[in-house]
Amino acid sequence: MGGLLAARALSEAFDRVTLLERDELPAEPRNRRGVPQGQHVHVLLPRGSEVLGSFFPGLADELGAAGVPLTQLARQIRFVVSGHRLVRGHLGPTMLQPTRATLEHAVRQRVAALPGVEFVQGCDVTGLTTEGGRVTGARFTRRGDGGQEETVQADLVVDALGRSGRSLEWMSQQGYPRPPEERIQVGIRYVSCMMRTPPDALAPEQGILVGPVPGRPRAMAFMACEGDRWVLTVAGMAGDHPPTDPDAYLAFVETIAPPDVHEVITKSERLSDLVTHTFPASLRRHYEKLRAHPEGLLVFGDGLCSFNPIYGQGMTVASLEAEAMRACLAAGDHELARRFYRAAAKAIDPAWQLSATGDLALPEIKGPRPLATRLINRYVARLHRVGSGDVAVADAFWRVAGYLDPTPALLRPSVAVRVLTRRGGD
Ligand SMILES: Cc1cc2nc3c(=O)[nH]c(=O)nc-3n(C[C@H](O)[C@H](O)[C@H](O)COP(=O)(O)OP(=O)(O)OC[C@H]3O[C@@H](n4cnc5c(N)ncnc54)[C@H](O)[C@@H]3O)c2cc1C
Repeated sequence: MGGLLAARALSEAFDRVTLLERDELPAEPRNRRGVPQGQHVHVLLPRGSEVLGSFFPGLADELGAAGVPLTQLARQIRFVVSGHRLVRGHLGPTMLQPTRATLEHAVRQRVAALPGVEFVQGCDVTGLTTEGGRVTGARFTRRGDGGQEETVQADLVVDALGRSGRSLEWMSQQGYPRPPEERIQVGIRYVSCMMRTPPDALAPEQGILVGPVPGRPRAMAFMACEGDRWVLTVAGMAGDHPPTDPDAYLAFVETIAPPDVHEVITKSERLSDLVTHTFPASLRRHYEKLRAHPEGLLVFGDGLCSFNPIYGQGMTVASLEAEAMRACLAAGDHELARRFYRAAAKAIDPAWQLSATGDLALPEIKGPRPLATRLINRYVARLHRVGSGDVAVADAFWRVAGYLDPTPALLRPSVAVRVLTRRGGD
């Protein structure tokens, strides 16, 4: 998704955009090897939907026609946070609920239709070409081609190879220092499957999200998606991992799910095997703090920051980085890397703050907790409690969680007074 969104932004500034992808790309929406996380729940936050809609007009209608649910966030998603069920809010923001494979496929079709965009599939990017310190292109080998290296020359190379992209290594070979890193060891494992519920078993709800609480670092998402199916993802943090034996898995689900939801899950048909994904740590690389950057290269998406996935932020942040890249390119190529990393950091900051601070609310997660973090977490826990009975507070939370409002919106007097003076509804 990062590469596709970057390509969309680049296509406005360059005549030709070449995407190098290791996988052979499926002609239909299908999971693929290079994106193992795609088999797990993949929430596209409302802000991400908005940005994708502006990049690809009509995308939401197209997905809707393919059976992707469009959900009223505050009314059709049951959200249990800090142990409190948020009260149903006003109509508010909407959220598209495609599987990752369907979303990525639809976006890829749109990107492939852009003039000047070309995909080279089944190729491994192996390095960069440089000239006088400037990055001038990428080196790659095609699968089954005897390892013969080819190059593609480019005015600008974007590394959207994901979290393990090798730009760091390539940059250090050129003598650049490593960017400062922040890491939060969350030790999370996802175990997921596709299900079919009995008809309308949870209607009008289209999704259930349950967050972790101190003493139970477990979370779950049970979300409707296209094809009249639901994705069930169960997560355990700090090594408290869900089992992969089906019966033990259901017993684990019972420790998290509200009783009625657990009952629906036990009555649902499992349509796929249980699949797992382990994610050791949230990781942010502060390229914006480096004094010098190689010209001709930008790192993008998970290569800049990969978040604890339970907050569902990665694709939305990648879409905001693509917006930032578009704006930076429109202003010319002078100090492009410095300007882009600064703008991308602004898109990443609130998401990092939300996920890092949220993780540190759990005593099971190791890390320093300065006074500000402790105060914020105390306030947020209170906000969740009050939000279980106060629609205005719940709505404010939905808008921030959906990335539609900045985090300080939770401190507006109209919200703060309620949070600090009311008790909550459950
Ligand atoms: C378990 C899990 C659940 C998640 N859930 C959500 C969610 O609910 N909502 C959300 O918004 N985000 C979620 N994310 C994050 C989201 O998947 C990523 O943020 C998003 O995909 C953007 O990442 P990316 O494109 O930078 O990298 P990736 O998605 O990792 O894509 C990297 C691409 O580069 C290709 N590639 C890698 N190396 C090479 C190479 N050497 N040569 C050629 N090609 C190569 C890969 O095949 C792949 O296509 C989740 C992540 C995980 C791990």
